[in-house]
Amino acid sequence: MPLLARYDLREAKRRLKRGNATGDIGGIWKYKELMPVEEETDIVSLGEGNTPLVHARNLGESMGLKNLFIKDESINPTGSFKARGMSAAISVAKQLNIRKVVVPSAGNAASAMGAYAANAGIEAFIFMPKVVPVANYKECQAFGAKISLIDGVISDCGVAVAQLKEKEGWFDVSTLKEPYRIEGKKTMGYELAEQLEWRLPETIVYPAGGGTGLIGMWKAFDEMEAMGWIGSSRPKMVAVQSSGCAPIVKAFHNNESKAKPWPTPHTVAAGLCVPSAIGDFLMLRILRDSAGTAVMVEDRSLADATNRIGKSEGIFCAPEGAACLPALEELLRQKLVSADDRIVIFNTGSGLKYLTPDPIPYS
Ligand SMILES: *Cc1c(COP(=O)(O)O)cnc(C)c1O
Repeated sequence: MPLLARYDLREAKRRLKRGNATGDIGGIWKYKELMPVEEETDIVSLGEGNTPLVHARNLGESMGLKNLFIKDESINPTGSFKARGMSAAISVAKQLNIRKVVVPSAGNAASAMGAYAANAGIEAFIFMPKVVPVANYKECQAFGAKISLIDGVISDCGVAVAQLKEKEGWFDVSTLKEPYRIEGKKTMGYELAEQLEWRLPETIVYPAGGGTGLIGMWKAFDEMEAMGWIGSSRPKMVAVQSSGCAPIVKAFHNNESKAKPWPTPHTVAAGLCVPSAIGDFLMLRILRDSAGTAVMVEDRSLADATNRIGKSEGIFCAPEGAACLPALEELLRQKLVSADDRIVIFNTGSGLKYLTPDPIPYS
């Protein structure tokens, strides 16, 4: 069962005013009082967070939407929002004097963990699929991580980690197996609220793999409400997955509370290639509680979507982020969003990570 960090929010409400969070380091650590690290000296930061919320006027206009925004996570260290979670998780690892960390990853989590572990002087062990994007492999190499390539997808990497971690004394930083990556990811929710002047958008469209972003933002909204920073209204949360791996979409539309493992996962959007997520029930609950939905988009539409976002806004999206565009078009067709709604789509990573048409398998 995933653990979630809890704070004394009544005390926080007394001491913290919205817009007044005081962490000196900035980025995600601006919200230090609501983060799991006690001493500033334990914080491992490479400048993550504080990403732009770009008003996508051209793209919005082409779709009849006045208030379309892109939260552009591609400018984070190591080119994806995974930096937020790993900055938090590795900071806590440092606080706890952990010497070795391990992660199974479809790519970007590995790069981010490698970077923060290197900076903290902690040994990093990484299990990635053989067909991981080349950039992720090379980054992990450059960060001095010990890489094991696995014939399979992220869940197979997870099995390999589980078999070895006890014997090797590795601290497991897998999605939702420790509570701190979520804490880093939740800062997207805090930033979004602040950037929209404490009025959450009507709809959030998010490319979901393991679901940490969705779950983290939802947690942030509840924390902010408990502190009186925002009211009780919530965005419709929309999870986007690819036709190559869409267990959450399938479970959502089948009215299931947990997802069945996707049998033959394959997608260019490596971050979405998560056939079974341990937080599936949390994601599904959030989609339903928010009156949101889940949308599957065709894997082969992602290249074109990348180019349309690029051409209209000058943002070079990861295919995961690009998936939000055909998903939003589907929401429009189903009349689930309207012209004046403030809609935020998440570009979770940089297109620069995916420069080969297909990931090159290593052997
Ligand atoms: C990991 C990843 C995702 C999925 O993230 P979750 O929040 O764990 O669902 C989406 N996009 C990119 C680029 C990723 O690296």
